[in-house]
Amino acid sequence: MRRRRRRTYPTLIRGLIQVSNFFTYRHGELFAEEVPVARVAAAVDTPFYLYSAAAFTAQYREFADAFLPEEPLICYAVKANSNLAVLRIFADLGAGADVVSEGELRRALAARVPPERIIFSGVGKTAAEIAAAVAAGIHQINVESIPELRRVSEVASAQGQVARIAIRVNPDVDAHTHAKISTGRKENKFGVEFGETVSAYNLASQLPGVEPIGLAVHIGSQVTDIEPYRRAFERLAELVRELRGLGFPVARMDLGGGIGVRYDAERPPEPLNYAKLVRDIFGPLGLALAFEPGRVLTAPAGLLVTKVVYVKEGSARRFVIVDAAMNDLIRPALYDAWHDIVPVRLPEKGAALAPADVVGPVCETGDTFAVDRQLPLFAEGDILAFADAGAYGAVMSTTYNSRLLVPEVLVSHEHFAVVRARPSYEALLSLDTIPEWLCQRSPDRSANPVRKRGAA
Ligand SMILES: *Cc1c(COP(=O)(O)O)cnc(C)c1O
Repeated sequence: MRRRRRRTYPTLIRGLIQVSNFFTYRHGELFAEEVPVARVAAAVDTPFYLYSAAAFTAQYREFADAFLPEEPLICYAVKANSNLAVLRIFADLGAGADVVSEGELRRALAARVPPERIIFSGVGKTAAEIAAAVAAGIHQINVESIPELRRVSEVASAQGQVARIAIRVNPDVDAHTHAKISTGRKENKFGVEFGETVSAYNLASQLPGVEPIGLAVHIGSQVTDIEPYRRAFERLAELVRELRGLGFPVARMDLGGGIGVRYDAERPPEPLNYAKLVRDIFGPLGLALAFEPGRVLTAPAGLLVTKVVYVKEGSARRFVIVDAAMNDLIRPALYDAWHDIVPVRLPEKGAALAPADVVGPVCETGDTFAVDRQLPLFAEGDILAFADAGAYGAVMSTTYNSRLLVPEVLVSHEHFAVVRARPSYEALLSLDTIPEWLCQRSPDRSANPVRKRGAA
């Protein structure tokens, strides 16, 4: 049975007064920093993502400040939001990048992330991708299997290089997150099994093209409970002691990302508590620490702004049909994710709220953003926004239903700039080609005869 989520009126009203420190209402109108969201909507047209530069900065600072004594390498997980402008903001703050493909590596380098601050993660790096990473001289490649270890050694040797690698360990802990974003159990495809780590490290120390420099772990995403981290980190600390006992120098520890954010009523770990946990477990080991936060740095910094196309009053439901769809923001369809829905203009004080389903136009029942949600009585043409859409939003967008990729806009103080433009329909269609042999064929309509009117 579907779990009904009820928000009391006071929390809903409170939610409407201030979405976050960077998205606020002034005289009933939603602002991103100093810019009215309605003004951006008029300039760019809906739907679009709207990011706050100050929010990215604040999220990064909060995370980095929690680890001031450790001076870790904070590699922003590019896959959460890979827009070059966003990467540049983090690069300017001193962040490195955690990349999972050659495309992300190229993005990080293009945004001027120094190569010595880039970590390459992922279970299926191809030889070409490994070659690109070795040629760029990145900080570290996190290796997730024995075959990959051999491949990295071959590729680096061919370039006359020795690649610094960390073994990503699968600690077999349950992160208590959505099944599709859990990565740290032995049933998940990620990492080298805990019991195989020592032999993998030993093999790495013998292969000519790699130098094992440490360990890495990443247990999943949207982790809201600190205990799975404790269990995983304790297991990793145990491995460090074992490896050092065997004579292997272990200098680095990459603790991954995964810290959750508050989309609804979650209580994710505070960075300071997370930092204390890390300090308690790894402090005595004198390791160079790295982190790969993605969502926590970006989710609260973005909105998806959309317009009501129609309101359909069904006998069982009130449907608010908006111009954004699952191809623009897939999290609700993919993970049953919750996003707060906020109006760009507040309703009059005391105005009624009523339950509605908020849906997109795509031909899939899964194209549903909210079910039976208490909302203001939106009407055709009203603009509203999905909150906390700065992570795993635009990066997961597609052109399904031949809809154009949704644009991205960045606000800073009183400025805004389109940082990814909406492509044209010509650009979309130009990706396809009709092969020559289909072009040359003379029209043959015999399979589907259309009788001319009056023909015998
Ligand atoms: C996805 C991913 C991250 C970032 O996860 P978040 O939940 O966004 O913090 C970090 N490291 C690795 C290896 C990942 O795959």
